[in-house]
Amino acid sequence: MSLIVQKYGGTSVGSIELIEAVAEKIAGFRDQGHDIVVVVSAMGSETNRLVALAQEVMEQPVPREMDVLLSTGEQVTIALLCMALEKRGFGARSFTGGQVRILTDATHTKARIREIDSSRILAQLEQNNVVVVAGFQGVDEDGNITTLGRGGSDTSAVALAAALEAEECQIYTDVNGVYTTDPRIVEGACLLKNITFEEMLELASLGAKVLQIRAVEFAGKYKVPLRVLSAFEEGDGTLISLEEETVMENPSIAGIASERDEAKLTVAGVPDLPGIAYKVIGPVSNEGIEVDVIVQNAAVDGTNDVTFTVKRDESEKTKAILDKVAQSLEAREVILDKKICKVSLVGVGMRSHAGIASRMFKAMADENINIQIITTSEIKISIVIEERYLELAVRALHSAFNLGDPQSEFSSQR
Ligand code: ADP
Ligand code: ASP
Ligand code: MG
Repeated sequence: MSLIVQKYGGTSVGSIELIEAVAEKIAGFRDQGHDIVVVVSAMGSETNRLVALAQEVMEQPVPREMDVLLSTGEQVTIALLCMALEKRGFGARSFTGGQVRILTDATHTKARIREIDSSRILAQLEQNNVVVVAGFQGVDEDGNITTLGRGGSDTSAVALAAALEAEECQIYTDVNGVYTTDPRIVEGACLLKNITFEEMLELASLGAKVLQIRAVEFAGKYKVPLRVLSAFEEGDGTLISLEEETVMENPSIAGIASERDEAKLTVAGVPDLPGIAYKVIGPVSNEGIEVDVIVQNAAVDGTNDVTFTVKRDESEKTKAILDKVAQSLEAREVILDKKICKVSLVGVGMRSHAGIASRMFKAMADENINIQIITTSEIKISIVIEERYLELAVRALHSAFNLGDPQSEFSSQR
């Protein structure tokens, strides 16, 4: 008997029929003798519906109440799934995050898990019950309901798998695993059998929403074997491997990620003096706004431009802060551009291969796509371009590196 933690995402539990199908799947694992802890998301787009309701009342809803509201979505699914399991003759018990005692910090709407009390779950497993836990939620020390940020059920599942020392954490979703890029953008995207933990971390942080980044961080930290697979079709899916198998000398590309919800801000004509970057970025991060890609141009005529990106929904707030900064620094102007996106190529062994960057830029040149910002790290190259070219850029890159073919010289699957 082994313990498996399984997570079923929103689309996989989007209707009663689908919940019944998930119950059948779990029944199959029980029949094979496995102990099962299930984490579920809210049904379909329920969380979006709840967000919209809140925004009808308040444009910027009170975070504590937002969490009380959003956590209801998952509570519906846990009860319905337990009913479907009981109907099939399997003992099943549902628990909210607070009932398990998934203890988090008090940062409403993006709380971090601190500790999980596994005793209640273990007692239920002992009695041969399937345990069904509401994803995406916990409680803080004072008993307030918290949520873990959008896509947070992935993190609930991995954290539970770590706490329970499960044999594997299986993330069931609406695609067959992790692909070379979002299969909704590129039809010929290639399913990856394995991906290194490091590459998955980059893909998740650069916009591939198939796994929440915190879930990948947790899996790495606590060495949880993690697999992404389809809730609807048979198959082994993708294993996020903890061991570095790829030889760093061989440039290999795991995939392409894209992100739409960013905005670009430029403070133009700031005096070229020591401490300027700090004076521009400092007040923004002091407000808890996450700053992403940052570039500063070489100075011309004693001034330069500082450009960076932030999440689009924080861009107006950032602009207001920068307007004040610009005034005090006597900078020329602040320019906000919301119509941008970021496209990134991720793979180990990239940095030492200039050929990869030039192939990437050529693919953009061939499509006449203007690159606004370029940043690189050990295992990724990101470009900021006009939002309307997102799909075109992803497709062009996918074919420039021939990623649809696992035998491609660039493929990490060779
Ligand atoms: P769930 O509701 O199961 O949590 P999500 O919608 O959060 O599912 O994540 C699955 C989606 O992630 C897929 O439908 C796909 O469109 C998207 N996605 C983005 N990049 C990738 C990728 N590289 N591989 C697989 N799916 C991806
Ligand atoms: N229901 C939450 C969301 O839509 C959490 C999740 O699905 O992982 O973001
Ligand atoms: Mg998700």
